[in-house]
Amino acid sequence: MSLREQLCAYGRRAVELGLVIGSSGNLSVREGDLVAVTPAGAALDRLTPQMCPIVDVEGHLVEGDLQPSSETPMHLAVYAATGAGAVVHTHSVFGTVVATTMTELPPVHYNALLLGGAVRVAPYATYGTPELAANVREALAGRKAALMANHGGVTVGATLEEAFEATRLLEWLCEVYVRGLGVGAPTVLTGEQLDAVVERALNPPAFPRRASS
Ligand SMILES: [Zn+2]
Repeated sequence: MSLREQLCAYGRRAVELGLVIGSSGNLSVREGDLVAVTPAGAALDRLTPQMCPIVDVEGHLVEGDLQPSSETPMHLAVYAATGAGAVVHTHSVFGTVVATTMTELPPVHYNALLLGGAVRVAPYATYGTPELAANVREALAGRKAALMANHGGVTVGATLEEAFEATRLLEWLCEVYVRGLGVGAPTVLTGEQLDAVVERALNPPAFPRRASS
């Protein structure tokens, strides 16, 4: 699948899964110094490959008739800082709820480790600005996900599939936390408990083979 075809496929999926309503999110995927990005203001479930602009990592338009997403500077800042292969940004409901109420999503489930642990909320700045890009870059240090205050979430991956799955996981973790608050005070895992998960994942027990008769 070409980079632009990937944007169309994952754009559709993001809308189908309710992670994005209309144009309230943007995706990009990189190959070398070229980045295919979703166009500004377009519904993500109605993209065609030709609609998706290609820019270079410095932000010059290389191909396409439509303007790149207004959040393209943030995507490019993330590529420069992380060397990621793809970036996904959405205004998904539970991610946005956490981003409007907290400064960090605490790790209440061990799968938070797949995103690097507690997810930081980048301080608020106007969408599309270099200031927001800088805040997100900082919040992503050592993480695969960050939240943007009063705005939404952003995830990275080596591939668009990886970045997309990180967005699904981020939304799930935020939903568990928010729903947990409705029942009681969610227990946050300790550093020791998280270290034990890493240890276990690195050393899975082997099942002994039954002797054949
Ligand atoms: Zn946004």
